[in-house]
Amino acid sequence: MRVGKSVKTQLLPDPPQKINPIIPPHPQRKPTTQSWAVFTYTGKETTYITKLFRHTNIKIAYRTNNNLLRHLTPNPQPLDPFTRSDVYRLSCPDCCKACIGQTGRDFRTRYNEHKRALQYNPHTSKYALHAATQQYTFGNIQEHMQILHTHNKSAHLNTTEKFYIFKEASISNHLNDHHTVPNSKIFQTILNDFREESH
Ligand SMILES: [Zn+2]
Repeated sequence: MRVGKSVKTQLLPDPPQKINPIIPPHPQRKPTTQSWAVFTYTGKETTYITKLFRHTNIKIAYRTNNNLLRHLTPNPQPLDPFTRSDVYRLSCPDCCKACIGQTGRDFRTRYNEHKRALQYNPHTSKYALHAATQQYTFGNIQEHMQILHTHNKSAHLNTTEKFYIFKEASISNHLNDHHTVPNSKIFQTILNDFREESH
């Protein structure tokens, strides 16, 4: 006679009961499946995007763009700042308009190029062209070349240059080509922070 497993089980005496106390799970051992996504808050677009994550297990945290602001804030300068490179601003001594540029070589070399352009080929430099066509003074390096940003690596260079072009353009003070003026919500946000800080 074959004894089915269930019947066999029923026929066997009960095994001694081992009492397992119910241990509540340690809070640190609780498995976590939750992920965090950090968003830089720039306005209602951020709110819209983060709403899409509402029913997922991804939690949203916001940060302000202070990190970005720190990257774009002018750095302290060494003794001869013109031996460094990155983003500069050349201002016109007569009308105070300004030209933003970037260079991977040192600022002095770049300044001398603008100056040579004035003599030989003003069309290669917006700054030289401005001075030549308006018969304005060509600014000297000490007073009219302002170093906006230096960086050891060129990673932020394009962004930094674009930001400062945007900044000058926002007050109609730029000599750069109009097509180089970026249209960026992030830049506008940072610029508002700049202005709030300078109040
Ligand atoms: Zn001018």
